[in-house]
Amino acid sequence: MRSDEIRESFLRFFEERGHRRVPSAPLVPPGDVTLLFTSAGMVQFKPYFMGQTKPPHPRLTGVQKCFRTSDIDSVGDTSHLTFFEMLGNFSVGDYFKAEAIPWAWEFVTSKKWLGLDPDRLWASVYLDDDEAADLWRKFLPAERIRRYGEEHNYWFSGEVGPCGPCAELHYDFGPEFGCGPDCEPDHEECDRFLEIWNLVFMSYFCEPSTGSGQAKRTPLPSKNIDTGAGLERMAVASLFERRLEEQVQAPFRVRHRPVRADYQAHRGALRQEVRQGSFDKLRAGCRPRDAHRGGARTSRDVPHRR
Ligand SMILES: [Zn+2]
Repeated sequence: MRSDEIRESFLRFFEERGHRRVPSAPLVPPGDVTLLFTSAGMVQFKPYFMGQTKPPHPRLTGVQKCFRTSDIDSVGDTSHLTFFEMLGNFSVGDYFKAEAIPWAWEFVTSKKWLGLDPDRLWASVYLDDDEAADLWRKFLPAERIRRYGEEHNYWFSGEVGPCGPCAELHYDFGPEFGCGPDCEPDHEECDRFLEIWNLVFMSYFCEPSTGSGQAKRTPLPSKNIDTGAGLERMAVASLFERRLEEQVQAPFRVRHRPVRADYQAHRGALRQEVRQGSFDKLRAGCRPRDAHRGGARTSRDVPHRR
């Protein structure tokens, strides 16, 4: 599936399940002083999750242009970008885990939709999230459902803002890309696994504690769903499977080496997206400055210019 087909399929899949399609917010979040750039699909929906504004519809879906610098040290590897597009479905106090997890599985594996090989999928959940683990268990064997702590399976929208435990879907490129028999989806230093979808169970408001202890978390007015599926990552997994199929249909070619080379070349090409990110920021009105929020101030004046 081409990236433009993935984008449209995702939106249509969730529209068929009662979601309203919303456009991407500007790269510079209007009126949000806690963030320099829009770094996730949920940024424009924060007032809904916090109960400050009523959403136009309890179920929303969209494709958000994102600029993220929080994991800049990882950019340049085979999976991280500063600029990317995030597919997402959102529930503001409407459905929760029991719908979000089966829908994610259906979109990713159904031949009518993305159609990835179910045998190449793993899931992870937050340590004590038995409910999410049980829901994945309907589709996956127990050994392909992992439990990780806060570093991997808890999502924060910033130092201050909505947060919650999350469940993730990981694509397995095969043991030949891993570090050995104990390779796990949380190994960011090797290339076997790629997180393709993060389902956040947005239930708390997080703020730094006044003392020295852990951040303070208070329950949000409602339990919400906030998901993020990287368009570029889904495209890489889809392309990888297509290349594998082509190899199977051409039995005289050496099977794995060309696939791997091709796959790495495409992942390398994704890094070029970073350049595109710079152009998009300029187009959004950002200009480099050395004080305060820099470009963000300038661009707020022209967030919707066409
Ligand atoms: Zn590994």
